[in-house]
Amino acid sequence: MDYDVIIIGAGLGGLVCGALLAQKGLRVIIFEKKAKVGGCCTSLTRRGFTFDLSVQSIGGWRKGERVWRLLDELGLRKGIEFLPLDPAREYHFPDLTIRQYADVGSHVDYLSSLFPKEREGIREIYKIYHSLSEEIDRFPHTLSWFDPSRFAQEFPSTFQYRDKTLQEVLEVLIKDQRLRVILGIRSSYALLPPSRLSMIAMASLEMSYLQGGVAVVKGKIEALPKLLDEGFQGCGGTIKTRQEVKRIMVEGGETVGVRLKEGGEITSRVVVSNADATVTFLRMIGEGCLPLGWIKRLKGMQPSFSYFITYLGVEGKLDLSCSNNEVFPRYDLEEEYRYLEEGRIPPSPPYYLLAPSLVNPSHAPTGHNTLCLSYKAPYRLLGGWDGGVRGGLAERIISQAEEIVPDLRRRIVLQVNSTPLTIERMTGNRWGAAYGWAQTPRQAGMYRLNRVSPIDRLYLAGHWTAPGGGVAAAMASGQITANLIWERLKGEG
Ligand SMILES: Cc1cc2nc3c(=O)[nH]c(=O)nc-3n(C[C@H](O)[C@H](O)[C@H](O)COP(=O)(O)OP(=O)(O)OC[C@H]3O[C@@H](n4cnc5c(N)ncnc54)[C@H](O)[C@@H]3O)c2cc1C
Repeated sequence: MDYDVIIIGAGLGGLVCGALLAQKGLRVIIFEKKAKVGGCCTSLTRRGFTFDLSVQSIGGWRKGERVWRLLDELGLRKGIEFLPLDPAREYHFPDLTIRQYADVGSHVDYLSSLFPKEREGIREIYKIYHSLSEEIDRFPHTLSWFDPSRFAQEFPSTFQYRDKTLQEVLEVLIKDQRLRVILGIRSSYALLPPSRLSMIAMASLEMSYLQGGVAVVKGKIEALPKLLDEGFQGCGGTIKTRQEVKRIMVEGGETVGVRLKEGGEITSRVVVSNADATVTFLRMIGEGCLPLGWIKRLKGMQPSFSYFITYLGVEGKLDLSCSNNEVFPRYDLEEEYRYLEEGRIPPSPPYYLLAPSLVNPSHAPTGHNTLCLSYKAPYRLLGGWDGGVRGGLAERIISQAEEIVPDLRRRIVLQVNSTPLTIERMTGNRWGAAYGWAQTPRQAGMYRLNRVSPIDRLYLAGHWTAPGGGVAAAMASGQITANLIWERLKGEG
C-alpha cells in the first residue's frame, strides 16, 4: 500500500481528519483539486479588498469548546486569533430590533425582559438546546445510531427530539406569535424555515454560537485551513493541491485507493471523502458498486439552499448602528422558502448586511470598507442565472442596503456578484449547497448520512455527514472520522 489513508478534499473536515491521523504516525495523503486548501473557507482579493467567500462568523472558538479543543489537541491554538463579536447580530424586523448576544445567560435574560410572560418557555427552550448539544458533544465515534435501546437510555433528549422540527417545539412552549418568530429567526442560518429545521440541528447551531462564542478569524478566514494544513504537514502528512480524484477504486466490496484525473493510481488502507457526498458515490464510485436501497435514499436527499452574494468595496466610513452583522427579516419566516422551493427569489426578500472590514480592517485599503450583501438563493433559478439576472438582483439588494448605508451606490468602488453556481464552482459542493444536506429531521442528528459507507474502508468527513453544516461541525466531523479510522487501523497493526 502506498499510504495508510487517502483523503479526498482539503476542506476543514478533510484537514482535521488528516492532521489527527498524521499526528498518530499514520502515512496520510490529501488530494485537493483546487490550488488552495479550505474549500468553503476561502478568500478572494481584488484591488486591495479582501472578501471571505463564505463564512460570516464561527462558533465554538471559546476556551474548552469544540474548535478550541481541536486546535489545542493539534498544538495549533497559538497560530490563530479569533475576534469575538458581541452582540453577534442585530435582527431588524419592520417594527422591532432584536440583538443577539453571544452568551446564553445574557440572551435568555434579554428575551425574557422583552417578553416577561414567556420567561419560563424561553428558559425551557434553552434548557433543551443545552441538553441536546451536550449529548451531541459526547456521542462516541463508535456509536451505532440504530441500537435504539442503548441510544434512548444514553441520549434521552436526542431520542426524544429526533423527529421534531423547531416549529413543533416552539408551538408547545411559546404562546406569543412574535416571540416564536424571534426564537426561530436563526433557523435562517441553516437556510430552512422553523417548520422544516430539525430541533437537533437548531440546538447544535444555537449552542455552538451562544455557548461556544461567536467570532471571526483575524485576517482572512483562509488562515484557519492554512493553519490546519501546516499542522498536517508538520506531522509528516503529504498534501497535493491541483490534483482531482476521479475514481475511488473498489475491489471485492472494499476501497483500495483512488485514481487521479491526471492519471495515476494510489493505493491505501482506507479512503476518506471530504467531497460532496453525491459526487463521491455516484461519480467517483458508481451505482454498480452500491446497494440499491442505499442509492435510492441518497438520490432522495435534499442539499441545503445556497446564497446570492454581492461583495462590495466602498469608499468612506460605515456608520452602522451596532454590530457588523445586520439581518433584515420579515415576520413570516416561511414565505421566503415558498419562493425558493419554486426556484424564485421573493420580490422584496429578507437580506443580510455584513461589514467585515469593521472587525477586520485589513480587508479594505485606508479610507475604505467592505460590505457583503446576501439573499438566500436556489441553485435552479427560474429563467437561469445570466448576467442580467445577477445585475438585477445586485441592484435590488444595494437599494435595500442604501436605507442603512446612505449614498451606498455612489460610494461603490468594487463589486463582485456571486451566485450558487459560483459557490459550486469554487467549493465543489453540488448546487452550491452551503451546509451539505438540508438539516431537516430526516437528514440531521441520528439520520444524517453515516460517515461509515456501504463500501468497506470508505469513510466520509465534512458537512455531508454528522454532525452537520458549518465550520465547527465540519471540523468535529473530521475528528470523529479520524477517531474511528484510528481505532480500526490500530487494531489491524
Ligand atoms: C456562502 C456560505 C456561507 C457560509 N457561512 C458560514 C458561517 O457564517 N458560519 C459557518 O460556520 N459556516 C458557514 N458556511 C458553511 C461552512 O463554510 C461549511 O459547512 C464548511 O466549511 C464545510 O467544510 P467541509 O469540510 O465539509 O468541506 P468543503 O469546504 O466543502 O471542502 C471540500 C473540499 O473538497 C475538494 N474536492 C471536492 N472534490 C474533489 C475531488 N474530486 N478531488 C480532490 N478534491 C476535491 C474541494 O475542492 C474542497 O476544497 C457557509 C458556507 C457557504 C457556502
